[in-house]
Amino acid sequence: MIFESLSDRLQQTFKKLRGHGKLTEDDVNEAMREVRMALLEADVNFKVVKNFVKTVKERAIGQDILQTLTPAQVVIKIVDEELTALMGGTQSRIHMSSQPPTIIMMVGLQGAGKTTSAGKLGLSLKQQGKRPLLVADDIYRPAAVKQLEVIGASLGLPVFKMAPGTDAVAIARGAVDYAQSHLNDVIIIDTAGRLQVDERLMNELKDIKGNVHPHEILLVVDAMTGQEAVNVAQSFHNQLGLDGVVMTKLDGDARGGAALSIKAVTGVPIKFVGMGEKLDPLEPFHPDRMASRILGMGDVLSLVEKAQQTFDEAEAKKMAKKLRKDEFTLDDFLAQMQQVKKLGSLENILGMIPGMGGLKKQLAGQDIDLDGKEMRHIEAIIRAMTPKERANISIINGSRRKRIAMGSGTHVQDVNKLLKQFAEMKKMMKKMKKMQGGKKGLPNFG
Ligand code: GDP
Repeated sequence: MIFESLSDRLQQTFKKLRGHGKLTEDDVNEAMREVRMALLEADVNFKVVKNFVKTVKERAIGQDILQTLTPAQVVIKIVDEELTALMGGTQSRIHMSSQPPTIIMMVGLQGAGKTTSAGKLGLSLKQQGKRPLLVADDIYRPAAVKQLEVIGASLGLPVFKMAPGTDAVAIARGAVDYAQSHLNDVIIIDTAGRLQVDERLMNELKDIKGNVHPHEILLVVDAMTGQEAVNVAQSFHNQLGLDGVVMTKLDGDARGGAALSIKAVTGVPIKFVGMGEKLDPLEPFHPDRMASRILGMGDVLSLVEKAQQTFDEAEAKKMAKKLRKDEFTLDDFLAQMQQVKKLGSLENILGMIPGMGGLKKQLAGQDIDLDGKEMRHIEAIIRAMTPKERANISIINGSRRKRIAMGSGTHVQDVNKLLKQFAEMKKMMKKMKKMQGGKKGLPNFG
């Protein structure tokens, strides 16, 4: 899993920190020593680590946060913000030319995932309503042309190629002409790669650049090569000038050093990430979401986006307000459960929620089954209650429990279990709200 080992290390460090009521400067220093080790072990560039730790320490100790009620939370918030900044702060997008076609040149070493990413990028653009043209411009490896053709065919994207022996610049120019006459508004040029950076390759790429003036030069690097990816990016950037990086194979990169260093070292932002061999759309890179994931805070924004596509917004706002004001009732609980069912598997959802580990285990123990009998029981029990009871479960005493069980065709134990679950859930929500206190990027529940 991406960043798994780094994520584990950092979370352990912060867990220790949370154990302290108040923090001393020594506690912060100790935690920062561990953060430093964790980052170095993740293969983050040495200088980047040094600056990072220094900045976090200065912010943490400088702002009198040690006096706040939840200093550990504030330290984590600072680390989160600085990790986000390290990776570029905000999402970097590709520039689309106002005069089509937009020309995108994909460059990189052999095996980095250039051809695959060209296809994935084409698919993303197609899904956005563009008409991309893939260009086979690797003149040295016939297999590379074939590979692009196969990818193009499977994604329904046209592929431009010329007779073997044509030089790379002529192909690129030919592609621009072709695109203009065939109304392709984006051209994605898959250039040749080499095993390592060499002068001939660079000259060829410079030639293509000088002739077709791409709007966007994207370097594709393999995250698993760690600091080597950073070095490759630096030399391509020095010689060619890059607009962005596509970092592939993050799905297999437990350490994450390249992803964390590349922007800080080269100044070039990661624009997309590759998360697998499958030809899915290329994923845009969001520094803030990545930081949250690294710190085990889930990816709430992606969850919210997904939810927005599913839920009625006005309804969601109403619920959010209730949650915030702690007015969430059993009626709301039922409505939410029915909504959540539409979102997909429980496991998937929990994966995006902060603190999911504990929550997942807790739910597993209680065996909540959103689709089956249990759901119907819950619904029946809640419907058997009076409005007053639903709004305030504390009035539900023993005799009321018996009546509700009778009315819903269930047992008193079932009623007890539901009430317990509901109380637990409210407690959990309070905890989560506290945990996220003020963190930017997280939903503020309304
Ligand atoms: P190129 O030589 O740079 O054009 O690289 P290819 O596109 O041929 O990719 C090399 C290998 O890496 C292929 O087996 C791809 O399926 C694989 N690959 C590409 N991107 C990813 C990714 O994001 N994750 C994983 N796991 N494999 C990838």
